[in-house]
Amino acid sequence: MTTKKILITPGDGIGPEVTEQAVQILKKVAPIFDLQLELTEKPVGGTAYDLTGTPLPDETLDAAKNSDAVLLGAVGGPKWEPLDFSVRPERGLLKLRSELELYANLRPAAIYGDLVNASTLKPEVVDGADLMVVRELTGGIYFGKPRGVEERNGERVGFNTLVYSESEIRRIAKVGFEIAMKRRRKLTSVDKANVLESTEFWREIVTEVGKDFPDAELSHMYADNAAMQIIRDPKQFDTMVTTNMFGDILSDAAAMMTGSLGMLPSASIGGSVGMYEPVHGSAPDIAGEDKANPLAMILSVGMMMRYSFDLTEADEMIINAVVETLEKYRTVDIMAEGKTQIGCREMGEKVLQSLEQNNS
Ligand code: NAD
Repeated sequence: MTTKKILITPGDGIGPEVTEQAVQILKKVAPIFDLQLELTEKPVGGTAYDLTGTPLPDETLDAAKNSDAVLLGAVGGPKWEPLDFSVRPERGLLKLRSELELYANLRPAAIYGDLVNASTLKPEVVDGADLMVVRELTGGIYFGKPRGVEERNGERVGFNTLVYSESEIRRIAKVGFEIAMKRRRKLTSVDKANVLESTEFWREIVTEVGKDFPDAELSHMYADNAAMQIIRDPKQFDTMVTTNMFGDILSDAAAMMTGSLGMLPSASIGGSVGMYEPVHGSAPDIAGEDKANPLAMILSVGMMMRYSFDLTEADEMIINAVVETLEKYRTVDIMAEGKTQIGCREMGEKVLQSLEQNNS
């Protein structure tokens, strides 16, 4: 038995509801793969602010740094919107990501079973699509300096800087190749090398890193074309690696193939501790009503198994249980004709039952 320390930070809104279901799944799957869990729960976001006056208390940050992985629900909500920017719930999350040096964000977009009909794209376009966007998370134009708004020649000017160092590109390219090697070995690097020198440099370095991965098939695509191709023919993609801003936009575009926010897990990796969270927010409009879809959070547990603990099979086991459950049951956000509508808690229980049946 290996022991893994996992920090659970349920957060705000529907965060605690979906986290409760995900933790049940975590507890079920871990022993099957000889993992002994040491779970610690700490507050983050608005809940943490209410308790301590800060959205990321030191004890939460220390616990995160001392864990093998972090599972986070969601943060934010109207209650905390009037607060000063520096103590808003979302600041807590951003600080946690940066303190843990999570420079690679993994956002898979796959169609699970007959959810193909929940997509706004034609079934024949999305059926079988399964892609992963690897987004650089801590550099690029969102962080580059100089930045700001100032007066120049009698008028106001807004400016930001797109800057990437060689080491930043190397490390994200390496993650891209490593992920691709665990998938179908195809990596598409997305840039605007035709107009931006910084991404011409990106292309050069990604190509160089590719020499260490001779079995991976590397291609390059301009960001505007990539946006179009994701909608036109998503099945052509396996793994995409790209800058912070292009990744922000392309991962949302890719996500919409799947139809619902409630189905999208994510992982942020790079430092010594990986963080796993659903893509959705705290959904204050449905919080406390047992309506939330817990599957994005449950699938995030699968990503933890795969990317922090190298347990691909555990992730596959969770995905299979989710697909099986979806054949009969749906939460309201993905409800379809012929299926039985259930709430958050029951959806968690059904996935658990499916796992139990497959492992009895
Ligand atoms: P949201 O993702 O919380 O909700 C958008 C819509 O999707 C809502 O109608 C909601 O009910 C629905 N939805 C989201 N997750 C769902 C689920 N699991 N099951 C069923 N329906 C679901 O985005 P928002 O409304 O723009 O933001 C609400 C709050 O969440 C804000 O304070 C925002 O800052 C915060 N937020 C946090 C994160 C995070 O913690 N990572 C991400 C995005 C937004």
